[in-house]
Amino acid sequence: MPKNLLILGGTTEASSLAHLISKTEFNATISYAGRVERIRQQPIQRRIGGFGGVEGLASYITANGITHLVDATHPFAAQMSQNAFLACQKTNIPLAALTRPQWKKQKADKWRLVPNIKAAAAALEGDPKRVMLAIGRMHLAQFYNNPQHFFLLRLVDRPEVPPLFPNQVIEISCGPFTTGQDKLLLSRYKIDLIVAKNAGGKAAYAKIEAARQLEIEVIMIERPVIVDRLTFYNSEEVIHWISVSG
Ligand code: NAP
Repeated sequence: MPKNLLILGGTTEASSLAHLISKTEFNATISYAGRVERIRQQPIQRRIGGFGGVEGLASYITANGITHLVDATHPFAAQMSQNAFLACQKTNIPLAALTRPQWKKQKADKWRLVPNIKAAAAALEGDPKRVMLAIGRMHLAQFYNNPQHFFLLRLVDRPEVPPLFPNQVIEISCGPFTTGQDKLLLSRYKIDLIVAKNAGGKAAYAKIEAARQLEIEVIMIERPVIVDRLTFYNSEEVIHWISVSG
C-alpha cells in the first residue's frame, strides 16, 4: 500500500518534516489546529481545524487512507498527543512523535520549577513584580488572581478580546527571537520575573538566555506527561522510520 502520512503540526519540527517529505515519494498532509491568523504555506497539502476528538481523528485516518501518523505538535499540546495515541490504537496504524529535547537548567539560571500553569499562577502570589508572561494566550485568565503585577505579554496575534490585567503591555511578535533582542525587551520593561513553559528548541530560548545574563528569575513550567511512544528528534529519522515500517 502507498505510504500516506498525516503530520500533526504547529511547530518548527513539523514544518521541517513537511519540507523533507515533499522531496520523497510519500504522500503527506500537515494538520493545523487553526489557532493563529497566518498559517504557514507548506510544500505538502494542509488541513486546518480540530478533528473532533479521538473518534474524529480515527474517522479522518480511515476516510483518508492514512498509513502513518507523526505527532509533531508542541510538547505542551497534551490533549492532541493523547488523542493521536488513542486514534492510532483504534485504527491500528503506527505512531511516532517528532519533538525537541527540553531545556536543561544551566548553573547561572535562576529557575523555579512548577508542574503546571495553575502552580505557576499560584507562585505569583505576593508583592508586585514586573512579569513577562511568556505562555501564549490560551491560559492567561489563570493569572487574573494576581492583578498586583505589571505584565508583559508576548503574543503571536493581537487578541480579539484583549487580556484584562490592570497593568499590561502586549507585544505582538512570532519570533524567532535573539538573545540580544530579548535582553533589550526585558530591560526596557524592567522585567524582574519571567513565566515560561519548558518548550525546548531554539526559537523561544532567547528569553531564557537573556534571563540568565540579566540574572532574572524564571518560573519554569515543566512539560506535561505524555504517554510513552516512539520518539524522534530529527526529520531524517522519521523519514527512515516511514520507509521501513507499515
Ligand atoms: P491541545 O490542547 O493539545 O489540543 C486541543 C485541541 O485542539 C485538540 O483536541 C484538537 O481538537 C485541536 N488540535 C490541536 N493540535 C491540532 C493539530 N495540529 N491539528 C488539528 N487539530 C489540533 O493543543 P494546544 O496546546 O492548544 O495547541 C494547538 C496547536 O498549537 C498545536 O498544533 C500545537 O502544536 C501548536 N502550539 C502549541 C503551543 C502550546 O504551548 N501549547 C505552542 C506553540 C504551538 P480536536 O479534539 O477537535 O481534534
